Amino acid sequence: MKGNIGVTTENIFPVIKKFLYSDHDIFIREIVSNAVDATQKLRTIAQKGELKEDAGDLTVHVSIDPKAGTLTVSDRGIGMTAEEIDKYINQIAFSSAGDFLDKYKEDANAIIGHFGLGFYSSFMVSNKVEIVTRSWQEGSKAVRWTCDGSPEYTIEETERTDRGTDIIMHIADDCKEFLEESRIQTLLTKYCHFLPVAVAFGKKKEWKDGKQVETSEDNIINDTTPLWTKKPADLKDEDYKKFYRELYPMSDEPLFWIHLNVDFPFNLTGVLYFPKVKKSIELQKNKIQLYCNQVFVTDSVEGIVPDFLTLLHGVIDSPDIPLNVSRSYLQNDSNVRKISTYITKKVSDRLQSIFKNDRKEFEQKWDDIKIFIHYGMLTETDYYDKAKNYALLKDTEGKFFTYEDYKTLIKDSQTDKDGTLIYLYAQDHDAQYAYIEAAQQKGYNVLMMDGELDAAMLGLLEEKNEKTRFVRVDSDTIDHIIRKDNTDEQTAPAGILADIFSTQLPKMEKTEFHVEPQAMGETAAPIVITQSEYMRRMKDMARLQQGMAFYGEMPDMMNIVVNTDHPLIKTIRHQGEEATAEALKPIEAEIKGLSARRDAINQSNKDKKWDEIPQESKDELSKTEKDIEEQQSKKTAVISDYAKDNKVVHQLIDLALLQNGLLRGEALTNFVRRSIELIN
Ligand code: ADP
Repeated sequence: MKGNIGVTTENIFPVIKKFLYSDHDIFIREIVSNAVDATQKLRTIAQKGELKEDAGDLTVHVSIDPKAGTLTVSDRGIGMTAEEIDKYINQIAFSSAGDFLDKYKEDANAIIGHFGLGFYSSFMVSNKVEIVTRSWQEGSKAVRWTCDGSPEYTIEETERTDRGTDIIMHIADDCKEFLEESRIQTLLTKYCHFLPVAVAFGKKKEWKDGKQVETSEDNIINDTTPLWTKKPADLKDEDYKKFYRELYPMSDEPLFWIHLNVDFPFNLTGVLYFPKVKKSIELQKNKIQLYCNQVFVTDSVEGIVPDFLTLLHGVIDSPDIPLNVSRSYLQNDSNVRKISTYITKKVSDRLQSIFKNDRKEFEQKWDDIKIFIHYGMLTETDYYDKAKNYALLKDTEGKFFTYEDYKTLIKDSQTDKDGTLIYLYAQDHDAQYAYIEAAQQKGYNVLMMDGELDAAMLGLLEEKNEKTRFVRVDSDTIDHIIRKDNTDEQTAPAGILADIFSTQLPKMEKTEFHVEPQAMGETAAPIVITQSEYMRRMKDMARLQQGMAFYGEMPDMMNIVVNTDHPLIKTIRHQGEEATAEALKPIEAEIKGLSARRDAINQSNKDKKWDEIPQESKDELSKTEKDIEEQQSKKTAVISDYAKDNKVVHQLIDLALLQNGLLRGEALTNFVRRSIELIN
């Protein structure tokens, strides 16, 4: 008998070939999972006692016949009668095909799922497909259906002793790879690894006399009861670790795992693992595998689990995720949103419970897990609210605190005069050692913020907590970072110090230095180099974000803070003043006179608007200002002339640079040379 496959489109096969081309491996999943479905249906029938014969061995067999050029999938499932072939294979529901194909042409899963075209995907790789099948029902006749890729098929009676179905695919010339054993083995491992019915591909092999020989035992390629289908109560830690090794043979042992298991309001099982990653560069999305009733669907779970959890490893199995739709639709699907919320909650509950019940383990693993937790807090507001109870802060001594505990710890000592709570932090323990020490000597605590996401985290914490500021220990002198007194600080009696030190500013690419005298007490260092928190953060962020390149281009702004209280600095100042006094006297007298004149002009015009001031008065003012400037630069020149070769000044600046790891290359060599000279 002959007939035409009931599609409205002229010919479905070119469509299948064309649109599904990129993904045509998946035919194997479709054909094998059909065989598995038929087998499971048979099991159900047998369990109900409706099967007259013995169910027997139900293994599904995949085999290659290189001579005939065929790939065959055989099962001993329910089989089909001629009527069933007509109903399930010939009549393809194909409504509004054109529109749909246009819309989802990138997404083979969507097309196949939408049309129930699973079986027809075999035509992606075959120029002829045969179905030889006999139904489980008593007295059924075996039938052979043949189709060569045109809408025309033949169906005829045939012989088949056994119940079940063979799908015989005559592999097309341009798809010969699917006749290679290794290729099929790889595909079966990818798509069929956890199917619920045993699938055999050839025979097991063993080494004998230096050669691989076939044994009589079936080579079963799947695990029919994978870990996630079992009850958590029946599983031990070792079972989870073993399953992890099976999924990711190259990875380190996972940090911990979460067994997912819901059946209302949607069905979902799975196991998620927190991987151990050494560097964030190793973080990879698309490590979670998504299954639908143990059939592998995809390893791209974006849209189904929240973004930050795509960094986890493991397996999710749900028949309720509508995979036969596009990704953008997924994100708006309410079921998918529920699933996503559920998974976030489960992950959070698990972390919370480890935190509560095994704080020590939690702290030990914190450095490894914080990247996931921080990423989650930064990207999901809901998750922030959960995680803020167990997220930790670590100080420079390696002690851990919850946000709440840390706040209590520093509240009394680190609140400044305006009531702002100042969190001190360091990013590099060695480089910022002196600043950490200075802060600790004040009785302050310093946090270690050296993680990839810490810079973003402290921004978030400032946003979430009122009157809270994070300041890196080296961004100013410690007394300026946490200002305690209400009186406006007296400017330090600095005299000519700023001019002296300005004559020897370091020359560094993309770095600008500025001298700032400050009274820091006799015991503090003579010179400290600081970098403003704001600019540094902007530059840090510019590295991570687009659209901030402007900040990235700006030079680093460094302050050379000169401690006016330090004996060495005092000496430099006095010596400098003495040595330049003579030369400066007339200049300073001049400046004094000019300043008095400027003040007088300003005074006489004080109540006038700009256009009421006579022109000559304006002219005189600008001339006086210019003269003052001139005298100032004369003064600077005198000081500069005196100070430019002052070795002690140079040495002090270099020492401060050295302490910050900023002294390199020629400057470092010169420093060493100068030091030796000074010792001599
Ligand atoms: P789907 O599996 O999504 O329904 P398919 O095109 O893969 O779509 O299969 C269509 C139908 O053909 C199946 O629902 C099933 O009834 C029947 N079928 C396919 N393969 C087999 C098989 N190996 N044994 C019995 N019936 C099968």
